[in-house]
Amino acid sequence: MFSRLRFVRQSTYPSLRYATGTFLQTQSSVGTMQSTHEMNSSKDHKMARCYQRSRRRNIARNANNPVPITVDVMAQPPRVRRTEDHQDRNKPLEHDWAVHDPIGGASHYFGSNGSFMSYIASSSQYTDVAQRPIRIHIGAQPNCRPHIGNLVTFTTAFVLASSIQKLFPSRKVEVVFTFVDSAPAVGGAREIGGIKYQVSLGRTGAADKMGQSFETFLQSISTLTKIPVQIYDQSFWRSNPHFPSVMKKIASNYGKLSPLLRDKLVIRAPCPVAGCGLTDKHGINNNYTTPGTIQFTCPIHGAHHVDLSATSDLQRLEFNTPMRNLVRVILMGMDETADWIQCTAGDYAGFYMEQLLHRPLRVLTEHEGPVPYILYAPLVQDWSGAKLSKSLYVKHGAYDYLIQMARGYMLDSDLFMAMDHGLEGLVSLVGDWVREPFRLFRPYSVDYIHCELQKRGMRNRPSISEGFGKGSNLVK
Ligand SMILES: [Zn+2]
Repeated sequence: MFSRLRFVRQSTYPSLRYATGTFLQTQSSVGTMQSTHEMNSSKDHKMARCYQRSRRRNIARNANNPVPITVDVMAQPPRVRRTEDHQDRNKPLEHDWAVHDPIGGASHYFGSNGSFMSYIASSSQYTDVAQRPIRIHIGAQPNCRPHIGNLVTFTTAFVLASSIQKLFPSRKVEVVFTFVDSAPAVGGAREIGGIKYQVSLGRTGAADKMGQSFETFLQSISTLTKIPVQIYDQSFWRSNPHFPSVMKKIASNYGKLSPLLRDKLVIRAPCPVAGCGLTDKHGINNNYTTPGTIQFTCPIHGAHHVDLSATSDLQRLEFNTPMRNLVRVILMGMDETADWIQCTAGDYAGFYMEQLLHRPLRVLTEHEGPVPYILYAPLVQDWSGAKLSKSLYVKHGAYDYLIQMARGYMLDSDLFMAMDHGLEGLVSLVGDWVREPFRLFRPYSVDYIHCELQKRGMRNRPSISEGFGKGSNLVK
């Protein structure tokens, strides 16, 4: 009985209880779902009557206007309508509010709490595990304040750390957050001679403006979950004792990469001339032919190089996202002092990690050591199923509908932190996913997250204005 019911949960959103109950009651006749439907307020009864009227109207309309069904197998498939020509865009989909958690992939093999946690616990390659700390890594570009997608990833890391801590009371479990201050600053991109250059966030000081919002959230959730957090910038990895040797190996093997991979795994160094800082975004003019050095080119001031044996030179190195991930994974695997687990958003799972981490890992470093576990936090998706994108919000003011629907807190962690019981609700929600991992390996929509947070007690404080305008959450 349990095995049939465990992956189908019913919605208990207060205002939608009747709709759910009706659906489940119907389904219960075929024995696939259970119904615990109840109505206990006049509001529920009003919703119920409204729902019934709507259903009767729809049934009558369909009965009076039967649509003949014909299938022309040679016909062109209908064109998928996009927002701009979607005449029915104001009609919400009438669904049943039932939440399904079908198993597949990781949720099939790691779907029970016991199998998931015991597998995570086996991550150590060393025998002295009782003394070794466990570090769970998260990171982000501070190009704007974190949105709900970032917060879900961060919360997954803290909740996972808390679960592991309970499993291993003798080991120190902590979260390590690294700012990606080498990401391009807003307005810092330039194109010269057909080649793209950028100035990084760290050089403009823009990272500091948004960094405080990240730290506020991280410190708050650290207090709530009792898991310590260490916050660093990218110099944390550059200062690793293995960093020089790893970089020498990568530089000497770089030519073995296929050209198609080379422009996706990029090493950068900003021009050292004071006030310049221009960086070849795709490393087009990088030169790796001199052993122990990498030569870079500024379009204005000419060639400059990084000596991979010089500590001060190594601190100038920056990476694009895949190369940064590759270097970080190698350094984590070489760490003799701690076991590492990476926690990152679900959009990095699959083809990205297979082609841009595991494939070049052997080519660039001849690396055969352990690769730390990577846990992909559930991706938060917009109404269409696309990732809730920080870049689209920052650059194009996307998701205005969330602001119009008084859900601006999903785009801005400062607004989220100002909600009553928002953080507690999020920890509770993610805690359920980690306790029942068959719910962990899947994405969730903004609508689902909002309903769950409300169900768990999140409320808007009267003093908070939801009229938070587009573009306010930007690095200027
Ligand atoms: Zn320059």
